[in-house]
Amino acid sequence: MTKLSLPTLRAAFGDKLQENISLAAYTSARIGGKADALIIANSADDLAEIISLLWETNSPYLVLGGGSNLLISDKGFSGVIVLNKAKAIRFIEDEDPSVLVESGVTMSRLANQAATKGLAGLEWAATVPGTVGGAVYGNAGAFGGDMAGCLLHLELLTENGRENWDVSALEYAYRSSKLKRDAIKCAILSAEIKLTKGEQVEIQGRMRGFIQKRKLTQPPGASMGSMFKNPEGDFAGRLIEDAGLKGTRIGNVEISTKHGNFFINHGETKSNDVIALIELVQKTVFEKFGEKLELEVEIIGKEHE
Ligand SMILES: Cc1cc2nc3c(=O)[nH]c(=O)nc-3n(C[C@H](O)[C@H](O)[C@H](O)COP(=O)(O)OP(=O)(O)OC[C@H]3O[C@@H](n4cnc5c(N)ncnc54)[C@H](O)[C@@H]3O)c2cc1C
Repeated sequence: MTKLSLPTLRAAFGDKLQENISLAAYTSARIGGKADALIIANSADDLAEIISLLWETNSPYLVLGGGSNLLISDKGFSGVIVLNKAKAIRFIEDEDPSVLVESGVTMSRLANQAATKGLAGLEWAATVPGTVGGAVYGNAGAFGGDMAGCLLHLELLTENGRENWDVSALEYAYRSSKLKRDAIKCAILSAEIKLTKGEQVEIQGRMRGFIQKRKLTQPPGASMGSMFKNPEGDFAGRLIEDAGLKGTRIGNVEISTKHGNFFINHGETKSNDVIALIELVQKTVFEKFGEKLELEVEIIGKEHE
């Protein structure tokens, strides 16, 4: 395992390096201790440059998008958090429309801008928290749409330099990609997503419908979204509900009474309480139904390194 050298990082990044930064505010669950350092990437070029320098200095790091699919340990993260704020968007409005988007753009912003231009295909994404980078990495999806169905290409930084990958190279599966499965050393810089021409009013209507549906079925409050992957042909939320676990609480984290696959942080939740609740759910569901629930959320940080 590589070790962080703050003097080396200070020399490499100067004022860009922020030290001893609390991460809770950068996650949707509002949970997590401090990182040794944080650097903000303001463009795809910036992101590529930062990651290259981190590789050169052999520094441990994590690219953070919206922090909406992570549980970060209260003990923090030993390394550099690269907060991705690369935000450029360029629509290509010809016969076969598409959008070139940097990886720090949020999916909801992208979906809303496409809708305003009368471009369809991303309605599902209006309700998915997080960035394009996070969505490409984990094949985010909702309401029948997903990244696998709309991504054309992506630009990736690998140890060989900047590369263009066709979507097929990602070997997408349910909430999974080759990048995630094989833990490929890379940063997603930008993506080209296909769109289709449509009517602005209809596209916005579909988006409003999805937002309404989500409000009816999913709880508000700080969470990581779905905690577990849906097992083949079933739903993690149903299994948790039928196991009688809705409303179960450890410390300040509770399994939502509205949707069994959502854990809600009622304030100052300890990451260990979330882990205890995860283990309780896995054990109970396995004992009752013989189903091993797999985490959808990634656990990050000191005690898990
Ligand atoms: C209320 C709620 C509802 C949700 N509903 C859905 C849903 O309907 N469908 C769904 O699929 N998900 C859902 N999620 C989960 C989450 O929105 C997705 O997983 C999202 O794609 C994560 O994006 P992010 O930018 O927040 O990624 P992060 O949580 O910041 O990061 C996740 C992983 O991606 C990696 N990563 C992020 N950006 C890059 C990059 N540029 N280069 C390389 N690696 C990168 C990170 O290093 C990390 O390993 C929900 C979450 C919440 C809180």
